[in-house]
Order: sequence, then C-alpha cells, then structure tokens
Amino acid sequence: MRYDWSVDEIEALFALPFNDLMFRAQQAHRANFDANEVQLSTLLSIKTGGCPEDCKYCPQSSRYNTDVESELLMKKAQVIAAARVAKEKGASRFCIGAAWREPKARAFDLVCDMISEIKEMDMEACATLGMLTPDQAHKLKEAGLDYYNHNLDSDPDYYKEIISTRTYDERLDTLKNVRAEGMSICCGGIVGMGESRRHRAGLVAQLARMNPHPESVPINMLVKVEGTPVAEDEQFAETLDNFEFIRTIAVSRITMPGSHVRLSAGREEMSEEMQSLCFLAGANSIFYGEKLLTTGNQDAENDQKLFAKLGLRPMESPVPSSRRMVNA
Ligand code: SF4
Repeated sequence: MRYDWSVDEIEALFALPFNDLMFRAQQAHRANFDANEVQLSTLLSIKTGGCPEDCKYCPQSSRYNTDVESELLMKKAQVIAAARVAKEKGASRFCIGAAWREPKARAFDLVCDMISEIKEMDMEACATLGMLTPDQAHKLKEAGLDYYNHNLDSDPDYYKEIISTRTYDERLDTLKNVRAEGMSICCGGIVGMGESRRHRAGLVAQLARMNPHPESVPINMLVKVEGTPVAEDEQFAETLDNFEFIRTIAVSRITMPGSHVRLSAGREEMSEEMQSLCFLAGANSIFYGEKLLTTGNQDAENDQKLFAKLGLRPMESPVPSSRRMVNA
C-alpha cells in the first residue's frame, strides 16, 4: 500500500487512455475485493437544515433559500425503526447525519444513545455530525460507533471557493481525533464544483496520503440544488463530463486499493450504464435507500434490478465482527 502519492502522479493517472485506466482500476479492485460485491449503506438525516455553515453546495445551510425545511432532532424510536427497515432491505451499515457545525452536549448524548441501539441490532454504525473534539470522538467510540464521516470536499487550494466558515485544517483535526480513537474513517469529496482536473487530483492525493487510507471514500457528483450558490453562480455553471467522474472513481480505486470507494450523491441522475462504468472503475459501495440527506437517491428497487442485470451482490458486513470488537 502506498501513502506517498504526489499530485503529479495522480494527474498522470487521470490522463491515461480510458481503457488503460479502467484496466488498472480493475486490477487494483480484484486484488483486494470480490469485484462483484457492493457494500450497501443506508443514510438517514436525523437533524435536517438550519446549519450555520456556508458550504456552497448544501441546501441545509441556513444561509441559502432552498426548499429544505429545518427539523428538530428525530426521536430515537424513529431512528431505530428506520435502521430496522434498512437492515431488512439488506443494508449492512446505517449512517446517521445531522446538519451541525459541531454537536452540542444534550443532543450529542441523545445521538450516542441512538448509536448504542443501532449496534445492538448488529449493524455497522456510521455518523456525520460535524466537527468533533477529542472527547466527543472518545464518547462516540464508547457508544460503539464504527465509522465517522467527515469529507474533505475538495483540494486544499480550491476549498476556499466553497466554504469559508471552517478551515481545511479543522477538518483534518476532526479526522485525527476520530483516528486517535481507533474508529474507521469515511472521507471523500465532491467533484463538479468548477474545480480543475489538477484540483481533483489534489483531493485524491490528500485522501491517498492518509496512513491508513480512509476505509470508505465517498465520491460525490455535485447535485445543484436550487437556491444554493453552486446552482446560481456562473463560476459553477459548467457540468462535469461523466467520463471525468468515472476517471475520478478509477483513480481513487488505484491509489486507495483497499478502501470502499462509494458512488454517492448524484447517483439518482446517473443512467444504469453510467453507474455500471463506475462499478467497473472500482466503486464498490453505494448509499441505498430513498434519500441522501436531503437530495434524492435511486430507490432500493431500481438498485436491486440493476444488481440483477450486472450480477452484483450485496457485500456482507465489510469488517469481520472479530475485528470490529478489537478496533471499533
Ligand atoms: S455540508 Fe454539513 S456543515 Fe456544510 S452547510 Fe451542509 S450540513 Fe452544514
């Protein structure tokens, strides 16, 4: 496993002839995984909207006028009921997301309770709650959390075009706090926000230089939600070419061969053929269920049909339970 990728090297991978890139991605994928298995996660927004941050793509920011209604933190019983449905539909991991800059004390304790109950259902638990202190990371670990999601969003240079209310270093600090507790990391970014290929290579380099690599790497295709700056400003007008998105998946697979590369936001707008090329490029994880926080997602039935056409199977829990006991 390599942790010393330079941006130049990664940009050179992006520039490979498409068939060569796909071949390299398949080699890396098959050396580390069953290439016909896809890990299924279900994501539930437990506290929607009203976030003070200014991420320009996010309809949950209170700074933008979007259709997203702010909601209070969901009750634990509702969250557990949703986790049960997700498990029945085949999800091995249940992720909960709250639109916070960082968790506040009372709500944080409630979320820790939810996580403990999800773990009792023998599912993997993942959360995305904003920035964490070392103490909060410790408490989540004690509650049984397996994964913490905190994305880098973009290349460090381009990042400031997208978010001004938290720094790149603050993101890295949260990831460090999560790692210090031995939890797994879910960390990726968003492409199609007007960044250059060099910036996309820079984002992948940031992820691929982490040692160990993030266990899950969500690659999101920007969804332009009406009312957010990315949908309104000229700077973000250009739509990313589908092949460039597939290349980003392939390059992530090659540079982080043991990670679950997740085809994330934007999947609802992708054709079956586009999704298939993403799987061929090494994506082996999807969000499964109706909604991806507040934007749409492919519904579970469509996914099952596509899996049947492609001969794909849901992956059993990707972390063996014995390892979970030791490291999680
Ligand atoms: S991406 Fe997260 S932190 Fe940024 S505005 Fe949306 S909910 Fe808030």
